[in-house]
Amino acid sequence: MLREKNKKNLIGVSRNELEVELIEMGEKAFRTKQLWHWIYHQGETDFSKMTSLGKTLRAKLQDDYVLVKPEIVTQQISEDTTHKWLLKTEDGNEVETVFIPEDDRGALCVSSQVGCTLTCSFCHTGTQKLVRNLTAAEIVGQMMVARDSYDEWPSDGHDRKLTNIVMMGMGEPLYNFEEVSKALRIIMDEEGISISRRRITLSTSGVVPLIERCGEELGVGLAVSLHAVHDELRDILVPINKKYPIKELLDACRRYPGSSNARRITFEYVMLNGINDSASDAKELARLLLDIPAKINLIPFNKWPGVEYECSSHHKIKQFSEILNERGLSAPIRMPRGRDIMAACGQLKSASKQPRRYSDKHSNV
Ligand code: SAH
Ligand code: SF4
Repeated sequence: MLREKNKKNLIGVSRNELEVELIEMGEKAFRTKQLWHWIYHQGETDFSKMTSLGKTLRAKLQDDYVLVKPEIVTQQISEDTTHKWLLKTEDGNEVETVFIPEDDRGALCVSSQVGCTLTCSFCHTGTQKLVRNLTAAEIVGQMMVARDSYDEWPSDGHDRKLTNIVMMGMGEPLYNFEEVSKALRIIMDEEGISISRRRITLSTSGVVPLIERCGEELGVGLAVSLHAVHDELRDILVPINKKYPIKELLDACRRYPGSSNARRITFEYVMLNGINDSASDAKELARLLLDIPAKINLIPFNKWPGVEYECSSHHKIKQFSEILNERGLSAPIRMPRGRDIMAACGQLKSASKQPRRYSDKHSNV
């Protein structure tokens, strides 16, 4: 949606900031709750329909503000009902969001960046250079667009499909912590979208210095993209390992606030044929996680154009899982979803590129 110049977007604004805006307009603080309710409980984007606010306030809001979500460019639904949206931000960048419905619930896989600075060798997103961080408005906006699509307003409706959020889309969420944190607080607010922290999981490739803060400030579930049990291999698969090696990463997991046997940390482990899928890898994985409240998600590798890795055979993955089970670790094999529309783990990518720098454009001058 195009925005009239100088109008401020109120989506993605924190509750405190919203209160400041209203007080500056000469309104009473209690209006914040009403307006918040319209935006995040009712999903209303037209100020003129916010009948409890009074005509004068509605007119003032219309003059100075907008409620803008990312625009849907295309959407695809997989043969297994996974739903992928290609969304466009106001400045023309594109990101993908994926909804994975299950029988009694459904997780929305939300992106945090356009592209990614990290270059994990098996990940399609990693081949797209970072264009920019998404704003809180664009992160919350992904959730709101999905709710629009499934007609799930108001937020307290029964039998909702969109029950969970996983920060596992494009980008490294802990490299955009401020905006991700702001967005998740809005999403968790009980008088709005109201998805509890127990239903939110943030996945990180291992940005060690921010792991503890994530637990303290947000209290969401943590997933860690481990993928290898030795630093030599993890340096190649997940290059951030060179900065924060396995030992430091696991120490940060041990300190993760709020983790317990009831709330385990998920360790994601992509199954790459002949690379990280041997029986001794499985045994070492169990040893490494011995004193951490952990569960393991075995992710069959999803292919994308140009990649050389192959997915381990089903037999191999099952064997790997059994070795972990024998050692007391839960290690379900994640069913690939949405592969046919390139919506599965690690397949997301958009066409957005960084604008060429002045020096590049003028390099032959
Ligand atoms: N950047 C964050 C979150 C997004 S990726 C992170 O790396 O944790 C979500 C998960 O999919 C991560 O565990 C990632 O390592 C994994 N993944 C990436 N590419 C994949 C692929 N081609 N097949 C299967 N899983 C993949
Ligand atoms: Fe970035 Fe995560 Fe992909 Fe690594 S796996 S390149 S951190 S999106």
